[in-house]
Amino acid sequence: MRMSRLHAPTLRAAPTDAEAVSHRLMLQAGLIRQSASGTYTWLHLGLRAMHKVAAVVREEMDRAGAQEILMPIIQPAELWRESGRWLDYGAELFRLRDRHSREFALGPTHEEIITDLVRGEVRSYRQLPLCLYQINLKFRDEIRPRFGVMRSREFMMKDAYSFDCDEDGLTRSYERMYEAYGRIFARLGLDARPALADSGAIGGSGTHEFVVASDAGEVTTVSCGECGYFANLEQAEVSDRGHGGAGGGEGDAIGHSAGGNRPGGGTGPNLVSTPGMHTVREVTDFLGVAPAALIKTLLVTTPDGRHAAALVRGDHGLATAKLARALGVAGVELADAAAVEKITGAAVGFAGPVGLRDVIVVADHAVTAMGEAVTGANQDDAHLTGVRPGRDFSWDQVADIREVQAGDRCPECGRPLSIGRGIEVGQVFRLGTKYSAAFGASFTDETGAIRPMVMGCYGIGISRTVAAIVEQYHDKDGIVWPLTAAPYEVGVVPVNDRDTEQERVATMIYEQLRDAGVEVVLDDRGERAGVKFKDADLLGWPLRVTVGARTLADGFVELRERATGGKRLVSVETAVAEAAAFVRRA
Ligand code: ATP
Ligand code: MG
Repeated sequence: MRMSRLHAPTLRAAPTDAEAVSHRLMLQAGLIRQSASGTYTWLHLGLRAMHKVAAVVREEMDRAGAQEILMPIIQPAELWRESGRWLDYGAELFRLRDRHSREFALGPTHEEIITDLVRGEVRSYRQLPLCLYQINLKFRDEIRPRFGVMRSREFMMKDAYSFDCDEDGLTRSYERMYEAYGRIFARLGLDARPALADSGAIGGSGTHEFVVASDAGEVTTVSCGECGYFANLEQAEVSDRGHGGAGGGEGDAIGHSAGGNRPGGGTGPNLVSTPGMHTVREVTDFLGVAPAALIKTLLVTTPDGRHAAALVRGDHGLATAKLARALGVAGVELADAAAVEKITGAAVGFAGPVGLRDVIVVADHAVTAMGEAVTGANQDDAHLTGVRPGRDFSWDQVADIREVQAGDRCPECGRPLSIGRGIEVGQVFRLGTKYSAAFGASFTDETGAIRPMVMGCYGIGISRTVAAIVEQYHDKDGIVWPLTAAPYEVGVVPVNDRDTEQERVATMIYEQLRDAGVEVVLDDRGERAGVKFKDADLLGWPLRVTVGARTLADGFVELRERATGGKRLVSVETAVAEAAAFVRRA
């Protein structure tokens, strides 16, 4: 490709509205342009990078025995009703009607379509196992599209679905995909680690998210430097349940409270006035106690409209996914102010477990281990002190519902855990029979019995992976593409294209590389050398071949690696072979 013809509209100034580095660089290097909120046009260079990623994914899927198909984006509502997700999927599902007023969804994922397909095609154990995949656009009306193509409303995904006779078969399919994912991300130069994750609405017995460490990510991870335990914060288990972990212990909880810590003793609960104090900090500062001496009462709503109260210590965060699991529901949301007022009779900020009625109360282990505590009083501007769990209030369930904190002990080896952030680039799921049972996707086994197929599903965000690569591979000058994802592998730059000798040699090298199958651009734009070098760095060609008067006088050109900045001179005669060899390293 000649750069004089290439549509790669680079921006001189960095766009100011981009929050993530990858978003900024993808705009600046002319890879993408926003159309509307959360929807993007992929320009030529961006699309080439996306195709590179897709090609690696395709090769590894094929190698793992999956077969590529292409499913419709427009999906009939009936199928979504059959799975129950027409309601459950909520506002993220794009819905539309055709001219006959029939309802449809724009596919955010394809379990419904594929299960409907397979139930009509597969009847016998002889046709199993089966693994099908596609690379296709997905549509999700995200509440908060952000970071460019990292979280958009229309994006490219690889989604694979496996069908097996039994759980053992699923385990084999899952492991094959898990290993394929390892190879895919390694080939793309991404250090994506499999994190234990929450299976949420999908259910099933196990799932891993592949997470690339990055501050631009939206996943909070918990890791152990000692044994390698790695989990999504939503899933990570608290091992030192009754104790404070990093934040302080039971001693703090009773240290300043009214009645001392004799079992059954104390004078509470005592009503204290806390005007306008809604937060843990405000209340505990006012009362002169540690946050760990307070019980937070968080009211939540379940998808079927019921309410529950979650009790966690003041210095702990509520893990909503763990609470949902304890309640046996797909998810929970914090109750709105009106619901809180209706249940507690008080404004938000003053809820407490004493005398709370008509809701399921779930207490975290650490709460049940507290001596005396401060809680909301279910009255405006008031709290209770000297509240003793078990004496002054009870609970329906004790569960691990708090978030792990840095310094908590690893559930595997007991060493301190640390907290980080990352980008989820893929996820593998054991679905079990959730969809096959709902859709009647059954097969006849060797004995003639009819059984539901056991399914798995496996996604990779192709467009998000491109952004994750840029996030991981850049420097102050621009993108530093790894060869496997680079839109073009080599840039040939004549320092001055009005110099006929430079122009001749550069064109020759360019044409020979192109004919050798190397993905190469020639910067023939007639720009100043400084502009060309700046753009070459911004666009991130892994190798730059510089053809300049000074070295050419001695018969040499310069090869410069973008990643290392390393330069060397090679003769004009060997330049093509050297550049081609560099590219083949990938
Ligand atoms: P997230 O928690 O980030 O919303 P998810 O769990 O909803 O992701 P999956 O349903 O597992 O995502 O989809 C598979 C992959 O698709 C994800 O691992 C991610 O890489 C990608 N993906 C999901 N949502 C988006 C989005 N809005 N924009 C771009 N890529 C996405
Ligand atoms: Mg999502």
